[in-house]
Amino acid sequence: MLQDNFGRRFYYLRLSVTDICNFRCNYCLPDGYQCGESIARENPLSVAEVDTVVRAFASLGTEKVRLTGGEPSLRKDLVQLIETAKHADGIRRVAITTNGYKLHSEIDAWQRAGLDQLNVSIDSLDPQQFQAITGHDKLEKILRGIDRALELDIPTKVNAVLLREHNLAEFNHFLDWVKVTPVSLRFIELMRTGDNRDFFASNHVAGSDIENLLLRSGWEQVVRSRDAGPAKEFAHPDYAGRIGLIMPYSKDFCASCNRLRMSAQGALHLCLFAEQGIDLRDTIADGDHEALAEQIRAAVCGKDASHQLASGFTGATRNLAMLGG
Ligand code: SAM
Ligand code: SF4
Repeated sequence: MLQDNFGRRFYYLRLSVTDICNFRCNYCLPDGYQCGESIARENPLSVAEVDTVVRAFASLGTEKVRLTGGEPSLRKDLVQLIETAKHADGIRRVAITTNGYKLHSEIDAWQRAGLDQLNVSIDSLDPQQFQAITGHDKLEKILRGIDRALELDIPTKVNAVLLREHNLAEFNHFLDWVKVTPVSLRFIELMRTGDNRDFFASNHVAGSDIENLLLRSGWEQVVRSRDAGPAKEFAHPDYAGRIGLIMPYSKDFCASCNRLRMSAQGALHLCLFAEQGIDLRDTIADGDHEALAEQIRAAVCGKDASHQLASGFTGATRNLAMLGG
């Protein structure tokens, strides 16, 4: 099993399959994806390369793969990517994080390909506010996609980044929705990245304030398994769904880190906010998953104890579309 010098075990791979995104979320890509920044960025891992990556991680004990991006559903071969991840020996769960743009039309095919879990980002339940945040008038279509996923019994989580000047006033609206909708709604604390410093200063909402609000309203923290990762989860007897809090600025957030990340160009990132990725593309392109596994094992020994977000250090991460959050 992959383990670092701090005893953390990594059974979860977040694999970015494209940097490209069709949305313009104001906290992530406010000017949209800028194409042509570098040729490498437009040359994502192929299906065969993803096969090599997933087999290498699986041989090291990885059990779960999440496909992310940019927007993974923009890959025309996403169904093959899901199948490839699912078929690797040892991989038990394949998940995807999507903006939901193609959810309604594609979710049946994704499930047939082996998708086990779905995360959809919805930063507002008000169509106008949704459009103001993402640049797209697609809320209704995305909600229909979620209904379809629930009909198919796919465990579904919804991600929302709370933003002081945009959707914080909708907090109760989100809770009303969870009362009748059996999803796990994850409030992700806004993270400072290289590109969003001013936006962060005016929009960051402390996760601990949300936690106190929930506890005062009868929500109780659910005890999760030791390997469940950094999200805190809360349940309430009157609600069909649950609330999760992802609070990267909280003390000890990094102590429960159980994930590694790979960029769409085959760079291993030991932390979302690492100074740089470790370029493994040549070994990946060779198709030698055993050699790749050895390189990954050696690299993991160099993983730091914690990110340094609290002191304003955001590493090489200009925005999370580069690596998938
Ligand atoms: N495009 C897909 C989506 O939006 O779900 C996948 C990639 S996106 C980078 C993954 C997650 O990161 C989304 O839930 C998004 O809200 C979140 N995210 C992006 N930038 C963020 C930031 N600066 N702070 C916190 N979460 C962020
Ligand atoms: Fe695209 Fe996701 Fe970033 Fe929004 S959060 S701009 S959907 S990558």
